[in-house]
Amino acid sequence: SSYHKVLEENRFLYNQVQDLKGAIRVYCRVRPFLPGQPNGQSTVDYIGENGNIMIMNPLKQGKDARRVFSFNKVFATSATQEQIYADTQPLVRSALDGYNVCIFAYGQTGSGKTYTMSGPDLMTEETWGVNYRALRDLFHISKERADAIKYEVGVQMIEIYNEQVRDLLVSDGSNRRYPSSRTCYIRNNSQLNGLNVPDASLVPVNCTQDVLDLMKIGQRNRAVGATALNERSSRSHSVLTVHVRGRDLVSNSILKGCLHLVDLAGSERVDKSEAVGERLKEAQHINKSLSALGDVISALAQKSQHIPYRNSKLTQVLQDSLGGHAKTLMFVHINPELNALGETISTLKFAERVATIELGAAQSNK
Ligand code: ADP
Repeated sequence: SSYHKVLEENRFLYNQVQDLKGAIRVYCRVRPFLPGQPNGQSTVDYIGENGNIMIMNPLKQGKDARRVFSFNKVFATSATQEQIYADTQPLVRSALDGYNVCIFAYGQTGSGKTYTMSGPDLMTEETWGVNYRALRDLFHISKERADAIKYEVGVQMIEIYNEQVRDLLVSDGSNRRYPSSRTCYIRNNSQLNGLNVPDASLVPVNCTQDVLDLMKIGQRNRAVGATALNERSSRSHSVLTVHVRGRDLVSNSILKGCLHLVDLAGSERVDKSEAVGERLKEAQHINKSLSALGDVISALAQKSQHIPYRNSKLTQVLQDSLGGHAKTLMFVHINPELNALGETISTLKFAERVATIELGAAQSNK
């Protein structure tokens, strides 16, 4: 029967994703040189198949000139969106199996975070980002399982700017109104799990297009009050959360999972001597929240007794989805240009701190 097929499929997937439970995976992606830009020398000297990346400083000589970092995987500039997603898909599936899943994009502004998560401005199916592919699969798989499990899906979208949480799907006159957002079924039937912002609008969705429409509204709301959307989006974190609630049609048991797609604020450090006023405040908030995220993830990786979730809004709102039975994937992005070398090194150091690479799994010759 199809029910057994689902069980069978679940068992297979269970085995496939079991190793990801509680673990943090870190994938590194190198942005290509952009068209119209001089094809300068790349600071990426070498990418190994086992998750190693060697960074080179052409201004230094000898041993000091090179440094190797190790991750679960490193994607070279030639990696396609499809290849990037292929390694993400098992996590997306597990949200439908009742797990909380977090996918982060980390890196300095201009390193390719938005490209990975959403895609380029002019998009074709080939260049669709992780968000679109994840949603497409989510709906596709839930339809495949429809004989056995009845799924309901709802979406929240928030922004964290200067440690303030803003609901991006709330209507504020200039935007379309979503009458159903305040009376969503998931909220009525149970406590929400996975995103610690109980007040944020939760909008029911039935297909990928519904979510894409909401993302557009969210993006528009995000730009309100900002000089330019790009500026705003590089200095705030955005969290798109897809809540999934499934009822097993045979046993009537309920499973709940969620998928967070998180586009983090640009990780670049602002020159303290130059930044003043708002800019300095923003930079301080971003530093604080990114290092809080790093602290939480590395405390989880080290199985510490105390996990410092309370140190930032970002880690507070994602608390239920970091650690425990949750699964986390972080894409760290680097820009291979020489003038980005300082940020590249600090990005990779951050990523290395949060990566739980088992000794022997990847060879490291730092
Ligand atoms: P971020 O979100 O980190 O600020 P973007 O995603 O906006 O960076 O990327 C900066 C520029 O580089 C954009 O023009 C984007 O289209 C381009 N870009 C980023 N990654 C790639 C890639 N893998 N292939 C082609 N172009 C890319």
